[in-house]
Amino acid sequence: SGERRPLAAANWKMNHTSIEAAAFLEALDPGDSSCDIWIAPPATLLPGMKAIIERRNLPVTLCAQDVHEKENGAHTGEISAAMLKDAGAEAVLVGHSERREQGEGAERLQAKAEQAAAHGLRILYCIGESEAEYSAGLTKQVLARQLEAVRNIPANLLDIAYEPVWAIGTGRAAGKEDAQEIHAFIRLEVQRHFPDQSGAVRIVYGGSVKPENASGYADGADIDGALVGGASLHAESFQSIIHAFQ
Ligand code: PEP
Repeated sequence: SGERRPLAAANWKMNHTSIEAAAFLEALDPGDSSCDIWIAPPATLLPGMKAIIERRNLPVTLCAQDVHEKENGAHTGEISAAMLKDAGAEAVLVGHSERREQGEGAERLQAKAEQAAAHGLRILYCIGESEAEYSAGLTKQVLARQLEAVRNIPANLLDIAYEPVWAIGTGRAAGKEDAQEIHAFIRLEVQRHFPDQSGAVRIVYGGSVKPENASGYADGADIDGALVGGASLHAESFQSIIHAFQ
């Protein structure tokens, strides 16, 4: 909306192997170039997908699903920002609710975002209230607190995904008017943090986005795109969502 290019981002979570990823890229019709397209696959798929994207000249940016906050060292099983870049990622999700559920709190998420930014990775920082927080009327308070973690990130590397936890993977998407109201609130917070550069920060909605409801979100003045889980696993449904933002 406005001066910001829309963004349709796919979060594949722990799904797909290399054959399925190649078939997805083969089938994907990216449409015109008016909407940025990101895919966040499992890290193992990054180099292979990078090769296909380059060979076919596809307008797709690869995004990692997580990053470790340290430069390198004794962190078995973890992947560093430099490794993600080396594997073909240009962006990374930070703060997805499924990571927060694994015990990632504010300090760790701040360190992860700062580490990603130090390596020039773009950050799609995920925020959202739980069902209990929503019911207690604490949504805006929770979001304002979660946004503190990215205060020091350069605005030109930052996008925000508003993902109410009760809407993720549940089929219970936020109403488009409700989502727009929350996005307008996030926009004000972003303007407060980055008074001169807030126009660079996109705010996308996530939580049971489907081909059927995507255009409703695209109508929202402060909704700059979508972060899509389940409906991003198949090229056909993801591309309908992309097209809704074009
Ligand atoms: C997500 O996990 O980021 C997400 C929005 O999932 P879904 O679209 O499946 O609700």
